[in-house]
Amino acid sequence: MLTRGRTALAAVGVVAVLVLTGQLIVQASEVAGTPGTASGGGTPAVSGAPDPVTVTRPPQVPTPAPASAAPAPPVSSAEPAAPTLPDPAGPAVLPPLTAPYDTVLGFHGTGKVAYLTFDDGPTRYTGQLLDILAAAGVKATFCQIGSQLAGFPDVERRLIADGHTLCNHSWTHPENIAALPGAQIDQQIGTTQQAFAQFGVTARYFRAPGGDFGKTTTLRQLCQRYQTRPLGWSVDPQDWKKPGVTKIVQTVLSTVSPGAIILLHDGGGTDRNQTIAGLPGIISRLQGLGYTLAALPPDGPD
Ligand SMILES: [Zn+2]
Repeated sequence: MLTRGRTALAAVGVVAVLVLTGQLIVQASEVAGTPGTASGGGTPAVSGAPDPVTVTRPPQVPTPAPASAAPAPPVSSAEPAAPTLPDPAGPAVLPPLTAPYDTVLGFHGTGKVAYLTFDDGPTRYTGQLLDILAAAGVKATFCQIGSQLAGFPDVERRLIADGHTLCNHSWTHPENIAALPGAQIDQQIGTTQQAFAQFGVTARYFRAPGGDFGKTTTLRQLCQRYQTRPLGWSVDPQDWKKPGVTKIVQTVLSTVSPGAIILLHDGGGTDRNQTIAGLPGIISRLQGLGYTLAALPPDGPD
């Protein structure tokens, strides 16, 4: 009897332990499942049942506060300057496109004025074009690739000192820029703006590589964010294809009209000797037709 009685008591004890253990397991799984659900990883929560842990979560007490009151460790001062890349969260909160940025400029101003623009520099050819423009007393607009600026600092400083207008032409000239994720477009524009800032200037125009602003508004919304007006053109002699000096000049003269923005190149992968050779004739013959050649307003077209 005594032995059986002890066995029975022991059995009751085992059941009690099992029940207690089971409760502990359930409680532990609930607690463990909660942060996994919140973070999107870990053990998924049981579906179909309310989450009592969430409901009964105790109020959060700011117990770790004293730790933050301690003197700051020297880590922050030892770190390099914060990266200057644009906030990648920016494109997700872009405001709607508004009027000045929903069009791409192909013309500007009133009267018999035309605007020379040079794309894809600075390069080793830019200086020769600056010489020609200076000799003629003409100001132009340069749509520049940000990653090339550091390679031609003297040319860039002269270009700015000569009074030409700057235009952001992206950081690396991706032909499909309008199709890139917003964060990458943001980086293409933003890093180039920062490169201009190294020279103490701000561009208020953006020309998409290939002139392609895309079918969505993302690229123009980012232009709006940086206050860089979308810049196109209305005269394109395709000088980058090197069709011959005569052809370049004649195309400009035969397609120009008042307010025209004329596309030429001081970069683009091959030599720009035809553009350089054609520029004096373009200037003199446009002036002969009564055109004033001007830079786009540096602070924007309005
Ligand atoms: Zn280009």
